[in-house]
Amino acid sequence: MIAFEDVFHRYGAVEAVRGVTLGVPDGSLSVLLGESGSGKSTLLRMVNRLVEPSAGRVLVGGVDVATQDRTTLRRGIGYVIQSVGLFPHRDVAANVATVPRLLGWEAARIRARVDALLDLVGLEPAVYRTRKPSTLSGGQAQRVGLARALAADPPVLLMDEPFSALDPATRRGLQVELRRIHAATGKTILLVTHDVEEALALADRIAVLDAGRLAAEGAPLSVLGRDAPPEVRRIFGAESLAFHRLGALAAGDAARPGDAPGVPVLPEGATLKDALLLMLAHGADRLALAGAPPRYLTLTDLLATP
Ligand code: ADP
Ligand code: MG
Repeated sequence: MIAFEDVFHRYGAVEAVRGVTLGVPDGSLSVLLGESGSGKSTLLRMVNRLVEPSAGRVLVGGVDVATQDRTTLRRGIGYVIQSVGLFPHRDVAANVATVPRLLGWEAARIRARVDALLDLVGLEPAVYRTRKPSTLSGGQAQRVGLARALAADPPVLLMDEPFSALDPATRRGLQVELRRIHAATGKTILLVTHDVEEALALADRIAVLDAGRLAAEGAPLSVLGRDAPPEVRRIFGAESLAFHRLGALAAGDAARPGDAPGVPVLPEGATLKDALLLMLAHGADRLALAGAPPRYLTLTDLLATP
């Protein structure tokens, strides 16, 4: 769906992107992961031509974006950024309706679309339709930004650190919502983050950028696994990667059948990171898993995971 072919970008003397070749599969939720300044935003912004490559090509749906009219191109690509950029004087419905209005949809169709999108992003339409952006929390505003980006049903969604300004609990909630929305809509999503934990929570595919170059690309647990390339281990820290990987593994997969009376109980759907945190909190080296049949998890088994 999106292909970068030996793409470079220079800002004067700064080589921000240096020879990136990368494919983003149709319908995937792909993450560009890297430290601040590694070129993630520059690469992302070449897709909707907010930035032009100094060399190389970017294709969307097999077509070189440089040959396309910018306005037409951008109507097929939703774009969500950290500071949402909602129009402050317009209510939520008018913000979400921005592109459908530009496209000249009739009022009834726009209204139905706005309500469907507010439902999709978890905002009750009757409550939020007429609210002004200044009355929304950061998380609610980000949901409206996402609804606005999806309004004209673009096949591609670009997201640049969309959750970075949110508190941890709101951020985790929106990550879960984004996975659900991705599964429900089948969009091709390319999301930028500097946060390993977020990348593991969201990605089908991860591409790691290091000083403008592609350091690794592939399935999350291979890119960030024990066998990760040396650059990746250096950038994020091998120990930190080992800890965050636990968050991408289900506790149930490392559990054994049987009863473990009198030990803390881990909720259903918990990850191995949740399990380790519960063990630490209780000073316990063994947990029971909620649900049937009875199962338990030991610290030794947790440590033996890849
Ligand atoms: P990231 O999104 O990974 O933090 P960016 O793509 O924003 O990285 O920036 C990559 C490099 O390009 C950085 O060194 C940054 O300072 C530089 N850069 C980004 N935008 C500009 C600009 N408009 N003018 C000059 N240098 C820039
Ligand atoms: Mg950036």
